[in-house]
Amino acid sequence: MISKKMENMVANSSAIRAMFEEGNRLAGIYGAENVYDFSLGNPNVPAPETVKDAIRELLNEEDPVVLHGYTNSNAGYEDVRTAVAESLNAKFGTDFSAKNITMTVGAAGGLNVILKSLLNPGDEVIAFAPYFGEYRSYTNNYDGVLVEISPDTETFQPKLDEFEAKITAKTKAVIVNTPNNPTGVVYSEETIKKMAAIMEAKQKEFGTDIYLISDEPYRELAYDGVEVPYLTKYYANTVVGYSYSKSLSLPGERIGYLVIPNEAADSEKLIGAANVATRILGFVNAPTLQQKVVKKCLNEKTDISYYNRNRETLYHGLKELGFECIKPEGAFYLFVKSPVADEKEFCAAAKKYNILIVPGTSFACPGYVRLAYCVSYETIVNSLPKFAELAKEYK
Ligand code: PLP
Repeated sequence: MISKKMENMVANSSAIRAMFEEGNRLAGIYGAENVYDFSLGNPNVPAPETVKDAIRELLNEEDPVVLHGYTNSNAGYEDVRTAVAESLNAKFGTDFSAKNITMTVGAAGGLNVILKSLLNPGDEVIAFAPYFGEYRSYTNNYDGVLVEISPDTETFQPKLDEFEAKITAKTKAVIVNTPNNPTGVVYSEETIKKMAAIMEAKQKEFGTDIYLISDEPYRELAYDGVEVPYLTKYYANTVVGYSYSKSLSLPGERIGYLVIPNEAADSEKLIGAANVATRILGFVNAPTLQQKVVKKCLNEKTDISYYNRNRETLYHGLKELGFECIKPEGAFYLFVKSPVADEKEFCAAAKKYNILIVPGTSFACPGYVRLAYCVSYETIVNSLPKFAELAKEYK
């Protein structure tokens, strides 16, 4: 029989799987164009042409034995890691070199690598609700305990008083995700500075090292020129997890990296652990071809004007209908207050209009729903009359 741990995970993942299947079922009956599927964070802006050119060039010019071979070191190709480090240094005034970079199998791979490297059974990992639900599974993979900070539903910035109170001698890591999935909120520099001061004080109080893990697949998706602070500059024990899944629309290619700075506690050992973890977790290091692709595309950007148009139209459209939500500053999600306390009831009502949205419970924030607006503009525009009908039910 399957393990107890997996039995729990299968039970908990059934809601999202059910929605995915429901989307396909509805599209089969009504036609895909009449289904307003806001459930998945799968980018719909195609990868930049340069990515295609880079792949072609690599296929034509590189030795296939190398290109399709195992990566030559667990951390990834040295020239790729040097290029990543130099591009970060140029952008953020940091001082990284190749050794600080471990290429990963997306952000999910990177998070699993760093948590495997850090956690002993029973160690605590803090996350701020609402958060990406997989953090719970990733922490559980290494027998860690996820400690949740309740949401501040006014601003969706982290509740720092509760954070301070919940840090214990067992706290090993704190995960932040900004721009945030599911709210689109960017944590302000002021928030980051206060958070860093609290963590410094708690490290002293307990005589421990507490790592700040910055999960930032949405870093490049920031609107209206908003600053997304680079966290290694504010707190020494910071590890950054980056991904090209959203920034270059490559979620299926599974490529990203971890930054473990020299300033982090036990940096050498942690880098060594991460490089072994990425080999033994089952995926055996980051894919060679994609490492070489991202090296050629470090200065490429996705077309965020596309998401921005969706953001403006959906946000204003829903506000006009009387829905409550905070305007996202980044990522491609809108987190809307459910007009009824049980947001699953609201999701079920939305489904009658072929609108698919995710209950906030999946992000540890009941009473809210998430809409992923990485869909076609037509879907946004055509969904609004349906949302109007849905809103009438709650007038
Ligand atoms: N972290 C957050 C907050 C996400 O939203 C996602 C994917 O949606 C991931 C991590 C995983 O990203 P990747 O595809 O790079 O593994």
